[in-house]
Amino acid sequence: MTQIKLVARAPDYIRAISPYIPGKPITELAREMGLPLDSIVKLASNENPLGMSPKAKAAVERAINGIERYPDQFELINALSERFGVAREQIVLGNGSNDVLDLAARAFLAPGRSSVFSQHAFAVYPLATLSAGGECIAVPAKTFGHDLAAMRAAICPDTRIVWIANPNNPTGTFLPHADVKNFLQSVPGDVLVVLDEAYNEYLQPADRADTLAWVREFPNLVITRTFSKVYGLAGLRVGFAVASPEVADLMSRVRQPFNVNNLALAAALAALDDHVFLGESYELNRRGMEQLVAGIKRLGLEHIPSHGNFVTVRIGDAATVNRKLLQQGVIVRPIGGYGLPEFLRVTIGLERENLRFLEALEKAL
Ligand SMILES: *Cc1c(COP(=O)(O)O)cnc(C)c1O
Repeated sequence: MTQIKLVARAPDYIRAISPYIPGKPITELAREMGLPLDSIVKLASNENPLGMSPKAKAAVERAINGIERYPDQFELINALSERFGVAREQIVLGNGSNDVLDLAARAFLAPGRSSVFSQHAFAVYPLATLSAGGECIAVPAKTFGHDLAAMRAAICPDTRIVWIANPNNPTGTFLPHADVKNFLQSVPGDVLVVLDEAYNEYLQPADRADTLAWVREFPNLVITRTFSKVYGLAGLRVGFAVASPEVADLMSRVRQPFNVNNLALAAALAALDDHVFLGESYELNRRGMEQLVAGIKRLGLEHIPSHGNFVTVRIGDAATVNRKLLQQGVIVRPIGGYGLPEFLRVTIGLERENLRFLEALEKAL
């Protein structure tokens, strides 16, 4: 009884949150199915199939000595500042980029304020918005991607943040940079635009642009990047935001002082410079995307053309097919929670993992 009363004391907006559903861990499926760990293929969380950069691994091993000390973000911020040509004061580190998304929400949202994002966009935007007490304005997608004109039109007087994922997860859709820039020009200067570029490094050369330089032109722009995807450090949790110094300062005020741990800082610093590993990861993804797309087409299935390290496939009865994939030790991501109940999202893996998936899928259909 007391328990019920206590829970009722939490704000309605907290109780309204539906928890994030992560990709099924390998260990969980192994327990459930009694399968050996190494027989399971996980293509469910857009992790780097090559693992972590060897340079980052060596850096983590070195950083174990000194783990009794609180972390110092100085070196990583310096390296990012040099690499990307932005001032140190413009950088905010996060415990994953998820953390910096949350910092933006906590710095700018509150009850009575809203944020705008697209249908089928990354699940963290509503989570971060609701946690801060804000209202969610979800704008219908256009051919699975963001409809920027509709998003512009959806901005209300109480809107403080617009979230854009480019490329978007879970659809893999990409907005040409010219369109994003036009959008930025049309948005009132007192509305923050958070441009989440978690998959930026997977863009083909023709699609790349120096978006970080736009922050000088648009002080209401926040760009987020992560070490979880192409850098292969998802388990260490490190990401960052680039913003105007004023916005970065506000975000830092709500940041835990030691939000990125010693091992993550050391690994990220080393990974940033491991161009060999980054090049291999990019190439593996490009080849794997071709392999998966060809295999999907051979099975007569449709997919959403993707600019990330994953591809989203229209299956039909995705829940049943997913169950049959799990029985064969293959974990992919059902995305009914994103309003796409007929689809499964598949991360690009190693060649043999992609093959395992395609063979399992053929049996499951
Ligand atoms: C994976 C992903 C992130 C990164 O999350 P981390 O917290 O950095 O691991 C951010 N945004 C999108 C759209 C993603 O898919």
